[in-house]
Amino acid sequence: MKYYSTNGKADKATLQEAVVKGLASDKGLFMPEVIKQLPSSFFEKMKDMSFQEIAYTVADAFFGEDVDAESLKKIVYDTLNFDVPLVHVNDNIYSLELYHGPTLAFKDVGARFMSRLLGYFIAKEGKEEVNVLVATSGDTGSAVANGFLGVKGIRVFVLYPKGKVSPIQECQFTTLGQNITALEIDGVFDDCQALVKSAFMDADLNKHMKLTSANSINVARFLPQAFYYFYAVAQLHKMGKKDNIVICVPSGNFGNITAGLFGKRMGMPVSRFIAANNKNDIFFNYLQTGVYSPKPSVQTIANAMDVGDPSNFARILDLYGKSHKEISSEISGCTYTDEQIKETLNDCYKKHKYLLDPHGAVGYRALCEQLKENEVGVFLETAHPAKFKDTVEGIINEPVSIPQKLQEFMKGEKQSIELPKDFETFKAYLLTK
Ligand SMILES: *Cc1c(COP(=O)(O)O)cnc(C)c1O
Repeated sequence: MKYYSTNGKADKATLQEAVVKGLASDKGLFMPEVIKQLPSSFFEKMKDMSFQEIAYTVADAFFGEDVDAESLKKIVYDTLNFDVPLVHVNDNIYSLELYHGPTLAFKDVGARFMSRLLGYFIAKEGKEEVNVLVATSGDTGSAVANGFLGVKGIRVFVLYPKGKVSPIQECQFTTLGQNITALEIDGVFDDCQALVKSAFMDADLNKHMKLTSANSINVARFLPQAFYYFYAVAQLHKMGKKDNIVICVPSGNFGNITAGLFGKRMGMPVSRFIAANNKNDIFFNYLQTGVYSPKPSVQTIANAMDVGDPSNFARILDLYGKSHKEISSEISGCTYTDEQIKETLNDCYKKHKYLLDPHGAVGYRALCEQLKENEVGVFLETAHPAKFKDTVEGIINEPVSIPQKLQEFMKGEKQSIELPKDFETFKAYLLTK
């Protein structure tokens, strides 16, 4: 399969090139040339298949031409060694809990898949080591570090702002050792991101070492997110619910929802999507007006969605031939304040005994407000509420227990290298590696 750039000015890439490069040379995002339809026989028997079996069928449609069947199956089964249960909350509303992986957030799926696919290409080519640079304000760093932990031929450098990530988040990428190095930068998140960007553009560094990124612009991180949409639909089919399925996705950079839109294009029987936003309402405004105007992000309690210029918007435009009419007929939006998120999280817990995290709360509220009587709704619960312990406890006024998996991280010893925020020091450090 070839991958083209959404900007249309770069040469087409192979899967391997797209994964290693991340972004196309014209700064566009890679898109697969063909989105394969899955046969109706698959949709009929999906309800009796396991998550891994369903995921492999979808993975084969995306990557089957470029990865041999045996290896692809292993990558899929290794990636998905945890469940993604669909839990009833109330009325016609279900939560797809994507937080049972190693770092308790949905980014585990894409990060684990990408690391294994990259590891496969490196092993096959026997080529030089690849270095992944990732800047994080918390969640991405933990998913990427854990996803790539112990993968041969890959080293990961996680850059994070000193004193600006929560202790729970910090321990998830500073205690791992092996091929993971945590760099504690004396600055803010934007400084970390600027260092990573400068590194990718620095000729000396690129001559010295092979550098790549691992954010949701990478096709190997974003496409695998389609797997669990099919599994959600399969679980509804098993309950006899087949019609008028609506999926609601708490969105920031829009990688997650775009993977779902790909699923629909492959024939997945879903009638429509809702993109749920916090106060960062750029996409919501686009739906209302047809005009896309990015702006600086504002801080909210659902901070993984604090994005002012969603990178995957380019993919959505491309998928729908830039038609605002087509886009707004399949996707609707919403935008909520922190006060509304808090109110929803508290209400849901008190009335239905279901504890949401602030991101999931945005998705749940959208379904409560927008779902019609004959529809059945699924929202993606993107992170475990304990990842936002202080915020959630402050809202429900009760202690939130930390799952065993998170406690294990907290027992580990912190290892990090402190660096100032200037590029020359960072570059000198990498040149010694
Ligand atoms: C990353 C993240 C999101 C946003 O996902 P996108 O793919 O960027 O839209 C939502 N919730 C949580 C908990 C996240 O970590």
